Amino acid sequence: MSERTNSSSLKLFQRAQELIPGGVNSPVRAFKAVGGNPVFMKSAKGAFLYDEDDNEYIDLINSWGPMILGHACEMVQEAVKEVLPHSFSYGAPTRREVEMAELIISMVPSIEKVRMVNSGTEATMSAIRVARGFTGRDKIIKFEGCYHGHGDSFLISAGSGAVTLGVPDSPGVTKGVAQDTITIPYNNLEAVKQAVEAAPGQIAAIIIEPVVGNMGLVVPVAGFLEGLREICTKENIVLIFDEVMTGFRLAKGGAQERFGVMPDMTTLGKIIGGGFPVGAYGGRKDIMDAVAPAGPVYQAGTLSGNPVAMAAGLTMLRYLNEHDEVYAYLENISDKLVHGMRENLDKLGLNYTINQVGSMFSIFFTRQPVTDFDSAKKSDLKLFGQYFNHMLQRGIYLAPSQFETLFISTAITDELADKYLKANFESLQAIKNSR
Ligand SMILES: *Cc1c(COP(=O)(O)O)cnc(C)c1O
Repeated sequence: MSERTNSSSLKLFQRAQELIPGGVNSPVRAFKAVGGNPVFMKSAKGAFLYDEDDNEYIDLINSWGPMILGHACEMVQEAVKEVLPHSFSYGAPTRREVEMAELIISMVPSIEKVRMVNSGTEATMSAIRVARGFTGRDKIIKFEGCYHGHGDSFLISAGSGAVTLGVPDSPGVTKGVAQDTITIPYNNLEAVKQAVEAAPGQIAAIIIEPVVGNMGLVVPVAGFLEGLREICTKENIVLIFDEVMTGFRLAKGGAQERFGVMPDMTTLGKIIGGGFPVGAYGGRKDIMDAVAPAGPVYQAGTLSGNPVAMAAGLTMLRYLNEHDEVYAYLENISDKLVHGMRENLDKLGLNYTINQVGSMFSIFFTRQPVTDFDSAKKSDLKLFGQYFNHMLQRGIYLAPSQFETLFISTAITDELADKYLKANFESLQAIKNSR
C-alpha cells in the first residue's frame, strides 16, 4: 500500500475553515467523528471518486444514496442536457412535474397525491405541518437515533428514560418546540403505547425511518411497523414513513413495499432527484388535500419542481421502475460484501454486528445485537475511526461516522467487491496487530 498524498485537500480545507463554518456545508463531511481531514472531491464516474490530489476511491456512500446507478450516469446527463437550452427555472407549472407525480404515485404504494420540494428536510418539516393541520393536534412522536433532517421539531433527544418529554439537541431549538416532540427508543412498541395513552387526543403524527440509516443501519423487529400502523389507525394519528433514504432503494416502492406496511404519509429525498436537490412528501388524498392551495396548510417553494432537477429525477426513477434486475443485482452484490466481511471478522476473531437490509448495511464493533440507539452506541467508536481511516488509505470511501449506513450502487462489480473485501481484511488486520 503506497501512502496517499492529500496536500490539495488539506489546503482547501484550511481555506474553507476560514470561510465556511467548520469548513463544510454539512457537518458529517468534516470527518470529526473519525479523525483526520476531509477529502475534497473533484470528479466521479461509476463506482469511483477522484479527489483534488487525484487519488481514486471506490465509493460506498454514493452521495448518501442518490447515486444508486453509479456516478455521472450517461442517461441522467442526457436528460439534463436536453432541458438546459429551455431555461433552468420558470416559477410556473411544467409537464415534467405532472409526469413526476404520476410516476411517484405509481411506484410508492401508499401515495395518492404528492408535493415536490427541494430537500429531505423540507419534506419532513412540511409533512408534520400537514399532519398537525389535518388532525388539529400539536404533538409528534419520533424515535431516538432517527434523523429526519434539521427541522427544529426533529432535533430532540430523549435521554435515558423510556418515554421522556423532549429536550432540545441543539441550541436554537426552543423549549416550546421541544415540548411537542416525544422521543421513544426504536423498536419499543410498548413505549409508544404508553406515550399515546399519556397524551390522549394530542398526537398528530408518528414519524419513523421504517428501516433506520441514521444510527448505522437498524432493522425494525417483526411486528414493530405493523404495531405502529395499528396504533395510528386506532387513535387517528398520521403515520409518516420517512423514506428519504429507503425510498426507491429497498424496493421500487421503498420500505413500505418491502415490509408490506402502509403509512398515511411518506417523505422522499436523495434518490428522487438523481443527485439534484429534490424532496417530496405525499400520502392519502384526504390528508394531502389539506395542503395549499387545495387546503389551508401553507407550504411553498420558488424552485420546487425545478425543471433540471425533475428531468434528472424522472430519468432515474423511470429506469428503476422499469428494471427490477437493478434491485436483484444490488441485493446480490451487497450480500456478497456482507458475507465476505463476516468471514474476515470471524477469521480475525473481532467482535462485530453487521446489520443489512438490501443494499444498505453497516458494521458495528460490538458483539451485542444493535436494535436501537442505545445498543448502537455500544459500538467501539475509536475502532470504527481507525477502520475508516485504514479503508480510506486503501482507496475505499466509507461513511465517515459509525452512525451512518453504506449505500451500494450498481457500479460495484464483482471485482470491485473483491477489492473492497481485501481492503477490509487488511484494515482490520492492521488494527488488530496494532493493539
Ligand atoms: C438525509 C435524510 C433527511 C434529510 O434530507 P436532506 O435532503 O439532507 O435535507 C431526512 N430523513 C432521512 C431519513 C434522511 O436520511
